[in-house]
Amino acid sequence: MQALGRISRLFRRGRCKIVYRSEYITAIHARHAHGAFDVMKFKKIRDQLMQQRLIRRRDVLTPQRVTDEDLLRVHTKAYLDSLKNPMLVGRYLNLDYINPWDDYIFEYFRYITGGTILAADYAWMHNLVVFNLGGGYHHAHPDRAEGFCLINDVAVAIEKLRAEKGLKRVLVVDLDYHQGNGVLLFYRRDPDVFTFSIHADTWNDVEKTNNVDIELPAHTSDNDYLAVLKTLLPAVFDRFSPELVIYLAGSDPYKEDTLGDFDLSEAGLLERDIIVYRQVRRRRIPLAVLAAGGYGPHSWRIYFNFIQWVIKNGRV
Ligand SMILES: [Zn+2]
Repeated sequence: MQALGRISRLFRRGRCKIVYRSEYITAIHARHAHGAFDVMKFKKIRDQLMQQRLIRRRDVLTPQRVTDEDLLRVHTKAYLDSLKNPMLVGRYLNLDYINPWDDYIFEYFRYITGGTILAADYAWMHNLVVFNLGGGYHHAHPDRAEGFCLINDVAVAIEKLRAEKGLKRVLVVDLDYHQGNGVLLFYRRDPDVFTFSIHADTWNDVEKTNNVDIELPAHTSDNDYLAVLKTLLPAVFDRFSPELVIYLAGSDPYKEDTLGDFDLSEAGLLERDIIVYRQVRRRRIPLAVLAAGGYGPHSWRIYFNFIQWVIKNGRV
């Protein structure tokens, strides 16, 4: 009984939902350029959350495949038609093995995008924090793939909620190691979507008034990174009042990451996530979190640490 009481107190403290389904792990096996990607990363996080009784089965929301109608708000018809050809998908993603009969990679992106829609919608409707165990394909453009991003799930989710749920102002906080150039370009003339990004290389330099784009050098430390974040993020809320924040909590700024060259520690990344969480939730703004990038066998822990902290310490 005592244990039950402790667990139920835990759930009362930090209510949040997780978005996941088994299709999330299938496609990345084919990934060539990112061989270090832990294909079980998101399942591992879901399993750890369950095993440690941090979440219950009913806390896991199951997304549906995104529809063509939803995709067409962001992507061109010609591009979407081309994604139905697995050979072209394989070429777009530089895969070393392409099976002309198998469309599971596009299906993977459809489920993940459905997950980002569900996370944003649920957070927005219930004023909660919702974690998609995937998503954050921020390099995709309306008419082409880039950087292993086939579908821009961030823009598709924002456009669906604006079209169907009356959402107006959105802040995208992107702390993945890579610049969220696809999202930035898509919203470069949109005063109601503010983009905030701290990254390594600037893929696209865009004239935009409601954005913050900060490029940091190789081997950036915890202290330097967090100082930039602490200085610049609160100021965004003085200029812009979002109704929803979408946070790309990429774990690739981690010093052990096999692609990135920042030197952030596991503790530093948790502090990063807590700073974002507190800035958003102290203003009672709904928060949808996406996993975004992160490579190597320890990468799963970075996202897990954040979810665990919210469940144990977060106030909603
Ligand atoms: Zn990345």
